[in-house]
Amino acid sequence: MDMGTLAFAVAINGAAVALITISMAAFRRKRGTTIFAGSFVSSSLAFLLFLRQASLGPFLGVLAPNILMTLSYFGLAWGLRSILGFARGWSRRFTAYFIVFIALLCAATFLSPSLLIRTAIGSSFIVLVSAEFLYALHRGPRSVPFVVRGAVTSFVAGFICLHAARLILLFLEDDFGFSLLDDSFINAYTYLFTIVSSVLWAGSILGIDAADLVTELERKNEMLRNLAVVDELTGLSNRRLLDSMLAAEIERSERYGDPLSFILFDIDYFKNINDNWGHSVGDDVLKEIARTAEARIREPDCLFRWGGDEFVVLAPHTGLEGAAALAEHLRTEVNARDFPVVGPIALSCGVAEWRSRMSADRLFSLADQALYRAKLAGRNRVAAMRDEEG
Ligand code: GH3
Ligand code: MG
Repeated sequence: MDMGTLAFAVAINGAAVALITISMAAFRRKRGTTIFAGSFVSSSLAFLLFLRQASLGPFLGVLAPNILMTLSYFGLAWGLRSILGFARGWSRRFTAYFIVFIALLCAATFLSPSLLIRTAIGSSFIVLVSAEFLYALHRGPRSVPFVVRGAVTSFVAGFICLHAARLILLFLEDDFGFSLLDDSFINAYTYLFTIVSSVLWAGSILGIDAADLVTELERKNEMLRNLAVVDELTGLSNRRLLDSMLAAEIERSERYGDPLSFILFDIDYFKNINDNWGHSVGDDVLKEIARTAEARIREPDCLFRWGGDEFVVLAPHTGLEGAAALAEHLRTEVNARDFPVVGPIALSCGVAEWRSRMSADRLFSLADQALYRAKLAGRNRVAAMRDEEG
């Protein structure tokens, strides 16, 4: 095989892969992907210098490309650690490896020049840093989805084995030659292996980056979903979620004939708390009431903040008497507490039971009428309403 053509193919392939990763880094604007792009640029530069080795001398033709080549693998582990959220992207260990590598490389370039030893040193460090890549992939603070992790692990493990095989071949090969352009089996093996592995490395980091992007989107979607249905002050589910859960519960009760009740409760004279102690004390009271009520109710009952100082308990499988008893428990529990700053607090509760073919609006309006009665009757009490139209 013509080594000049093969080496040229490696350089062209490296440049193409570098271009792909540069465009990915420009789009993603993340430290990790920028480091990945730097890695691929570094390895394609290394091959361009290797190609011109004969005319460049030991610094530019030997030392520089060897450093660039090994640095490109450091970059892969560094970029991955940065993407997966390690506290240090560039680990202190990497600095130690790098210093040892440079020292050994200088010795094999200037003190006792040997292509064989330089190649062995390069391969050993590439194997070491690839193992660091695998370590980061499996021990990162953020995890990579199983399928992507499995595929990348198989490739990198194969890459390490083939590099180790190359190391063994290096020492077995009699006709190693004196330059990377000499016609030898090990040179042909290196070039072909480099072409295939650089494509697979690029595929691996694109896969990891895509998986990271999907995970990030899922996390943000989850956050948005929560923001849409969670009341910011109390952390309870809000009115939007109540609407959809009430519709689902009504449908279920209609189908199976299960009882379903609705409790609407409101803090008595809450405005006075805001007026006397300020809005933030009022907010603390709302949070405390939410916590107290949440601790009192049991599955499958659900607590919602309707808005202002009004809360709702949706009680599936519960009839009017059961719901009124639950409301009474809630009321007495809150009433028995001595709230910080404001002292005792009273609740008024309106309870209604769903009946077949009753709409959600009608159920709410019944509970609201019951609450109004409780307020009218002197507050700090529970009132229940039966549907007289039914
Ligand atoms: P009633 O016994 O008839 O219920 O009288 P009330 O003073 O509790 O009056 P009402 O329930 O109508 O007033 C609720 C007040 O709650 C009005 C509003 O200023 C206040 N409020 C609504 N949302 C918040 C909030 O998020 N934080 C605070 N601190 N106050 C709120
Ligand atoms: Mg009130």
